Amino acid sequence: MTTFLPEPHLLDSPRGRDWPPPMGTAVPVAGPPARADVVIVGAGPAGLAVASALWHLDVRDVVLLDRADRPCGRFFDRVDGLRQRVLRSPYEHHPGVEGYRDCELADFARLHWSRLTPVERREIRMAQAGHRSVVPVDVFEAYCRHIAAVHGVDTRTHQATVRELHPGADAVRVHTDRGTVTARFAVLCLGEERTSAPWGGSASVGYWDEPVPPDARSVVVVGAGLSAAHVIANALSDRRRVHWVVREVEERYQCADVNASFFRAEGRARFDGASWADRLALMGRHRRASVMFEFRPLLRAAEADGRLVVHRGREIADVSAAGVGLVDGTRVRGDHVVLCLGTTPSIGTGLLPDAIIGARDGWPDLDERTLAYTRAPRVLAVGAAACMVLGPAARNIDGHRVATARVAATVAAHLGAPSTLDRTAVGALV
Ligand SMILES: Cc1cc2nc3c(=O)[nH]c(=O)nc-3n(C[C@H](O)[C@H](O)[C@H](O)COP(=O)(O)OP(=O)(O)OC[C@H]3O[C@@H](n4cnc5c(N)ncnc54)[C@H](O)[C@@H]3O)c2cc1C
Repeated sequence: MTTFLPEPHLLDSPRGRDWPPPMGTAVPVAGPPARADVVIVGAGPAGLAVASALWHLDVRDVVLLDRADRPCGRFFDRVDGLRQRVLRSPYEHHPGVEGYRDCELADFARLHWSRLTPVERREIRMAQAGHRSVVPVDVFEAYCRHIAAVHGVDTRTHQATVRELHPGADAVRVHTDRGTVTARFAVLCLGEERTSAPWGGSASVGYWDEPVPPDARSVVVVGAGLSAAHVIANALSDRRRVHWVVREVEERYQCADVNASFFRAEGRARFDGASWADRLALMGRHRRASVMFEFRPLLRAAEADGRLVVHRGREIADVSAAGVGLVDGTRVRGDHVVLCLGTTPSIGTGLLPDAIIGARDGWPDLDERTLAYTRAPRVLAVGAAACMVLGPAARNIDGHRVATARVAATVAAHLGAPSTLDRTAVGALV
């Protein structure tokens, strides 16, 4: 049997290269307008996909509102905080709507061939040959800037924190810290918040999206996902000793957290018509914390030479300044504990009344066909909130593309926009 042993240097793409600025980039300085056809709350990869799709459908009176100061700001801040140099998703997964054959991520990378390293060029050839490929964060960020510029997203993105939405029969009022926007439709692209621990806080306990204090000589990392792997790799490279506490009997190395079938129509079809209980079971079985294959040689070598101690199959009883207490009474000690417990989908809680969200097991009540909130049809959701309709891949960049097709077509049809949409292509997606 041949064992797949990916090269660790796939993880080391350069960051901060000098990409040519996209044409027509301009960030608005004035506050958001009072009215728009569509307000998109959240300008991450999902919001970018929705705005770009609406642009293709000739819906141009669109406003994006985000707490961050630039499109996809939170996504890249998180990625850079972890010193992550490559995406987990391959070249085929990119913000946008399939069917237009706009400049796709792999096309964009090929246009910038001279800037890429030999390893990065080889990955593009892998993508062209239909194999798994690794995308540099630098390429992905330049591509997102390009997509934002050519679809007029930069000029319509306003930095604002949305406080509340009031859906009515004809319009939705969106209240922000910079005024109110009244729109005919609102699309929530809120992403996910980090999952908090049930244990009490302490100065020497932090999360994956917070810096490790520079004077910590040893860290205890809790969690079995890619964020944990990045925190461990960074700590090792900073010459810290690491303890890794993993609940499962063995850590899992996989291409993606989501079973690959859910990125394809046949996987999504398993959700269509399935009972709520079956969907919950599918979500639990097919989305599990795992680490990219590329980390395995690095982590195994560190474990073999004692710089990394892995505590496998261990349940946690408490976490405090004294370290991590395990249920068997052992205490794993370190100067700092980093909790990498993943993220929790934002479903509109706090922005919409609970009665409208209609949450069940943490998931909102969405129309299966349109992804509109059943009790507020002028408010729609794209991103992690759509998992119980589209399956676990809804949380990923590729899943946003599928949700976007439904939402953009719904909004455009109601606004009566003259559509340039290739409905056959979108029909194939949904
Ligand atoms: C470190 C990391 C790496 C990842 N890597 C990959 C990967 O390689 N491939 C992949 O497919 N997926 C990856 N993911 C999953 C990833 O989160 C999603 O694919 C993608 O970022 C989600 O896009 P989004 O637009 O839904 O959410 P986000 O990128 O989180 O965007 C949501 C936006 O909404 C804004 N927002 C939320 N609430 C409000 C409010 N009340 N007012 C104003 N603005 C608000 C936030 O500021 C944020 O910018 C990764 C996730 C993390 C955390």
